Amino acid sequence: MIYTSTRDNTVRVSASEAIAKGISADGGLFVPMTIPTLNLVDIERIARLDYIGRAKEILKLYLTDFTDDEISMCVQGAYREGKFSSPKIAPLYKLNDDAHVLELWRGPTCAFKDMALQLLPYLLTVSAGKTRKDTKIVILVATSGDTGKAALEGFKDVPNTEILVFYPVDGVSPMQKLQMTTQEGENVGVCAIEGNFDDAQSGVKAIFTNREIEQKFAENHMAFSSANSINWGRLAPQIVYYVSAYCDLVKSGSVKLGDPMNVVVPTGNFGNILAAFYAKQMGVPIKKLVCASNANNVLTDFLETGTYNKNRPFYCTTSPSMDILISSNLERLLFLLSGQDAQSTKKWMEQLSATGTYTVSDKVFSAIQELFSAGFCDDEDTKRTIRKIFDEYHYLCDTHTAVALNVYAAYKTKTGDKTPTVIASTANPYKFSKSVLRALKSHIRSADEFDMVEELHEVSGAPVPPQLANLKGKEPRFTKVSAKEDMAKVVFEMLGL
Ligand SMILES: *Cc1c(COP(=O)(O)O)cnc(C)c1O
Repeated sequence: MIYTSTRDNTVRVSASEAIAKGISADGGLFVPMTIPTLNLVDIERIARLDYIGRAKEILKLYLTDFTDDEISMCVQGAYREGKFSSPKIAPLYKLNDDAHVLELWRGPTCAFKDMALQLLPYLLTVSAGKTRKDTKIVILVATSGDTGKAALEGFKDVPNTEILVFYPVDGVSPMQKLQMTTQEGENVGVCAIEGNFDDAQSGVKAIFTNREIEQKFAENHMAFSSANSINWGRLAPQIVYYVSAYCDLVKSGSVKLGDPMNVVVPTGNFGNILAAFYAKQMGVPIKKLVCASNANNVLTDFLETGTYNKNRPFYCTTSPSMDILISSNLERLLFLLSGQDAQSTKKWMEQLSATGTYTVSDKVFSAIQELFSAGFCDDEDTKRTIRKIFDEYHYLCDTHTAVALNVYAAYKTKTGDKTPTVIASTANPYKFSKSVLRALKSHIRSADEFDMVEELHEVSGAPVPPQLANLKGKEPRFTKVSAKEDMAKVVFEMLGL
């Protein structure tokens, strides 16, 4: 399997080079040049395996320069017993005959990012061993909350790596902040920046593609890589759970082998839903990909009109991990749907950074309309949805998942589509206790984060993940706040350069 760049399709790299580099030197993202396929016989066979077995089967189709032993070692390390709170790793919870919630937050940091970020350090270490021996890998992360903690946890004390996370100072929930600022490990750093997620992400991208910094790093036997979903090593593990969810629907008799399912994804950077798109292209019977956004509905507008326009107000919502106006992974979709047209993709991305807007070709837009449906909901509707789902099914969901459930309900009303549907559930509700509790109660006893966790537990009966409960009383290690212009300086400081 050869990978190329979305902005220069003469680029040719192996899977391990794509993962070790993170982003192409031309600023584009790495994508496999062909998409491997699964037929129904393959799916039937994979359905008989457990999650680890399924992951091995899918990943080896993409990581063709990894040996079977390397893939086994990586996958077994990532998903070994005890790391996830369900032996199924990504279990489906059946809400009703049509709706199945795919719980992607059973990992160590209680958000779906663990699904990929528990695996990425293994993939990256193997990749670096193949492509750049004796180099220390420096992972830079921009986070809207969940990626940061999941990456810190995944890379903590991994030999030959350093990890540094930037988060928007007012853009994450108190629990998310505490999870990051109390992070343990010798090779970790965390810094708040005065700005929003897009500022953090742009800053990290600028550091990545700065030739001078690259030079300085090379002199010190260091190289950057990315743990954001611009790294292919984040995307590939996410394809697995959509294949796995289909397998589980078939096994439980909810779907007949070969019949379709729909997928609804609460979306920010377009990574998670892109993985579902890949699963569909591989041959998993997926009918519609439903993209759910919060008040930052730039993707809803784009998928409905073909014009992307980030020139609009930025809202801090109760689903902060989706407070994003520049969805990086959309670039990969445009590249694929334009028939691997790097020139057009590059042009659109340049227009985006110059003017904040671009309009795709008719060809790309009609492909989008065929594949996707889109919707959004505001904080009030998010709240109402949490309440409604709890009242109807006694199921407690977080704010991001509620956005998806709300958009799904609207999709169903609009289309009458009764296809069995998988709704990606991306965070444990206790990561956003205040917003979730407010949805269930008009009066809250105390504004203290851990009192709210306790009260939410009393009201809902849902179990509190011990890794969140244990943060109570823990002293933050990282309290630095930096101007967004100073991110490179912070990186040098941390690395002692
Ligand atoms: C990251 C995140 C999202 C958005 O996922 P993308 O892959 O960026 O679209 C949604 N919900 C939660 C809880 C997240 O952490």
